[in-house]
Amino acid sequence: MRNIVSPPPERRNILSSYTSPETLRDRSNWYIKLRWIAILIAGIFVFSGSHILNLHLHLTYLTWTLGLLLIFNIGYFLTNKKRRALDRIVELGILKFQMVMDLFFLTILMHLTGGVENPFSFFYFIHVVISSIIFKGKEVYQIAFLAIILFSLEVLGVQFGLLNHFHILSSSEHLHDPVYIYMALSVFCFVILFTAFLASNVTSRYRVIRDELIHKQKQLIVADQAKLDFFRYVAHEMKSPIVTIQSALDTVLSLYKESLNEKADDLLSRSRDRSQQVLDTVKDIVDMTQGTDEKPLQFAPCNVSLLIQNIRESLLDEYAIKQPNIDLRIPDDFEMKTYPELLDKIISNLLSNAIRYSDDNCQVILELIKNSHEMELIIVDFGIGISENEIPMIFDDFYRTAKAREKEKIGTGLGLAIVKRFIDKLGGSIFVNSTLNEGTTFTVKLPIHE
Ligand code: ATP
Ligand code: MG
Repeated sequence: MRNIVSPPPERRNILSSYTSPETLRDRSNWYIKLRWIAILIAGIFVFSGSHILNLHLHLTYLTWTLGLLLIFNIGYFLTNKKRRALDRIVELGILKFQMVMDLFFLTILMHLTGGVENPFSFFYFIHVVISSIIFKGKEVYQIAFLAIILFSLEVLGVQFGLLNHFHILSSSEHLHDPVYIYMALSVFCFVILFTAFLASNVTSRYRVIRDELIHKQKQLIVADQAKLDFFRYVAHEMKSPIVTIQSALDTVLSLYKESLNEKADDLLSRSRDRSQQVLDTVKDIVDMTQGTDEKPLQFAPCNVSLLIQNIRESLLDEYAIKQPNIDLRIPDDFEMKTYPELLDKIISNLLSNAIRYSDDNCQVILELIKNSHEMELIIVDFGIGISENEIPMIFDDFYRTAKAREKEKIGTGLGLAIVKRFIDKLGGSIFVNSTLNEGTTFTVKLPIHE
């Protein structure tokens, strides 16, 4: 049995730190994609600004800058493609380098397109938001401060005449007004720091919730496995004592039947039936947990025709008193790759239901149709049928219809739940068509693996 223990407190920290070099690489690839789009949009703006809006743009410098940015992005792209993500520090370093270089490029582009007079300074905010998605905590503020420093250097450099001013509009006297400049810079600093705070806060909250969910999901998987382990353990431990009790009862009933009085005979017979019921449940639990233990199921070639014939023989033995008529309409020696244990359980359960819920000497038909990519198994009976409102419930664990309980005392209601689970495992589907008192048809479709 596996123990479910709550994680140590440091677990949360481990979860919230940068997950893996691969995750950072994914972020880097995403960032490169964003840069392709940004370059394209900047190109369109430059072209339309100069040719349509007749802005005074220095096309040569701008083309050089955008061209250089394009070359850098090709470089990042090729580096990521060639190298596998190996180290978290290296990946983080590459991302930081890209982010810093982008801020430099953005400042050059801003400078060439009017600096403070260009409304596109909000691109700095986009940068800060992107950095909060890529990085955590202090790196976001580092990027925000770098943006403030670069933008302020550009604006003050122009203001103090250290840098050329590239006008994009003809009249821009207010740009030389120090009050306007300092106001614009203060608003810029405030908004960018506020953006950094807000964006890193939102993304860190999102990360905590996401980590919590991942952790809970892992706990659920462990709990589910523990439940299956427990079922398997109980089923295993119960099986042999029940078989022993049953064979002892069988022996007493067959050897001493004549000497038993009526009451004792009745008691022993009922005990025998009850033990059979428990044994059926135990067998169902074993089936339900099939393939979940350390020993995985074997995917192997299977002669489906032979498998069906063998099932027919054993069901004829099991239901000898009922004398059913099992009519097989199947191709000879049809082979396919599958999990034979699962296929066996699916067909046995459906065929035994068809016999169980029909009268003595009933007729049951099993047809196998082989299509190009899937096989269809159609099981038809003319028994008690299922009412329309009960059909959706029959695949639920432990569900038995009232009519079925009346006809057959013994039954756990797990057979179809197991069938459905196995069909899902094989990638197939199951359909039911039934009319009360007329009969039932189950159609199973399973993919064919050659
Ligand atoms: P067991 O777990 O032993 O197979 P069961 O046969 O009652 O018990 P399922 O095989 O899961 O359980 O079937 C669920 C219910 O669906 C049955 O109890 C019955 O009411 C209904 N059912 C299934 N197959 C048929 C059928 N061929 N005809 C009529 N009712 C059916
Ligand atoms: Mg059944």
